[in-house]
Amino acid sequence: MNDCIFCKIINKEISADILYEDQDLVVFKDIKPKAPIHYLIVPKQHIKSVNDLKEENKDLISNMFLTAKKIADKLGIKDKGYKLIFNVGRGGGQIVDHLHLHILGGR
Ligand code: AMP
Ligand code: ZN
Repeated sequence: MNDCIFCKIINKEISADILYEDQDLVVFKDIKPKAPIHYLIVPKQHIKSVNDLKEENKDLISNMFLTAKKIADKLGIKDKGYKLIFNVGRGGGQIVDHLHLHILGGR
């Protein structure tokens, strides 16, 4: 956890282009965007992946999706459309072991 790059961003130990923050989540620009618009919706709590979610994380998960919708609106892609992606594990393309929801759009 101490080595986690997203925890470091959350703790402001390393910088990121933060678009939104509340008590549970932070949203920042992906450093290597795979689309014209690419942000990451990241819980402040260090949870490794979707595989590590528990019943008690229900509110957090719904909050991530509701925030995704708000962010899409804020970025002007809500009506045109966008992608929401969770990569899970190495075989699923996950590189950073801290739960995050990708929001991609602008194409
Ligand atoms: P994943 O492959 O789902 O684990 O996605 C991790 C994402 O984090 C990739 O799209 C990376 O480009 C992005 N990323 C890695 N390090 C940083 C960073 N320091 N700031 C912003 N995005 C990052
Ligand atoms: Zn972390």
